[in-house]
Amino acid sequence: MPFEALQNELDERAALGLLRQRRMLQSPQAPHIIVDGKSYLSFCSNDYLGLANHPQLIAALQQGAQQHGVGAGAAHLVSGHGAAHHRLEHELASFVGKPAALLFSTGYMANLGVVQALAGKGDTVFADKFNHASLNDAMRLSRAKVKRYRHNDMAQLAQLLEQVKVGRKLVITDAVFSMDGDLAPLPELLALCEQHDAWLLIDDAHGFGVLGAQGRGSLAHFGIASQRVICMATLGKAAGVFGAFVAAEQVVIDTLVNHARSYVYTTATPPALASALLESLQQIAHGDELRGHLQRLIVQLRSGLRGLPWSVMPSATAIQPLLVGGNQAALKLSEKLRERGIWVAAIRPPTVPQGTARLRITLSAAHHAADVARLIESLHELAR
Ligand SMILES: *Cc1c(COP(=O)(O)O)cnc(C)c1O
Repeated sequence: MPFEALQNELDERAALGLLRQRRMLQSPQAPHIIVDGKSYLSFCSNDYLGLANHPQLIAALQQGAQQHGVGAGAAHLVSGHGAAHHRLEHELASFVGKPAALLFSTGYMANLGVVQALAGKGDTVFADKFNHASLNDAMRLSRAKVKRYRHNDMAQLAQLLEQVKVGRKLVITDAVFSMDGDLAPLPELLALCEQHDAWLLIDDAHGFGVLGAQGRGSLAHFGIASQRVICMATLGKAAGVFGAFVAAEQVVIDTLVNHARSYVYTTATPPALASALLESLQQIAHGDELRGHLQRLIVQLRSGLRGLPWSVMPSATAIQPLLVGGNQAALKLSEKLRERGIWVAAIRPPTVPQGTARLRITLSAAHHAADVARLIESLHELAR
């Protein structure tokens, strides 16, 4: 049996400080969590508005289950497409300012489905080097030609677009980069796409619910509206539940219904999740206070982290990475914080480039200013 080879590989990973391990939560997702019987102050969830454990969402999920049952029982194209799914798609589309939307089970599957449905042999996908793994996997799976450009480097993207004369062109980018927290320059990207007749797929996993008026996302943040923009966002982060959607022109959505394999060949999500998400959308739309509080925490954290031996990366979002450098050093800092009852994930290659291991601090509107103060103080103590 080849178990020995597998174990050797894992041991090698461990020696490099790259072994991944899970820890088990014994409480709902919240700033204060219980892991292995111990309580921690957590800065690593993407539950940016604190909706994952919100009483009204819990009630909506319960009512949804009463009304619709538990399982969808089939794919959307067979008999799994329920009234709650359908209503949610309409509301999501109008919320982000698009004519139509389509629910997917996860953001990972949405990205696989969209890229594969819109680009194939003879087409070209242009991708930022810091894009999320799901976009990277999606473009490989699509069998289109792939051109990657340096992070947010519009000059290089322009050159690459210029070189391609045939086939469909699809530019794909995180709107908020998941490990860096910075934004893609969407107005410039759109201008280039218009100039070169390319489509623009933005992955708004970390902007939806947080950025723009009423949390409508990165398009609203930049004030962008264009038929050539396709917007994907996840529903397991700021929305606090599970799932993802793609919003675009009706003909694009119809194409996805017919050709996105990760849509066609999978069971619809439980309709009760759609009930919970309809409530989540209400909370997001009326969540200016939550977003205001989150913004104040971001300012507090950034100013408090000045003067540390590790650098705060340029980010105005809820993702505030602290650049450490080495893998072991990042792990060690994360462990030292954990000893103090604070939980921040260390992110290492290949998720981020070599030599840029970091603590990925994420803030939530559910944090209190005192929580952030405690993190700042602990980091200053550890730096001494
Ligand atoms: C989390 C994430 C995804 C995947 O979404 P899931 O719903 O968790 O599968 C896709 N893109 C980005 C940028 C993400 O951060």
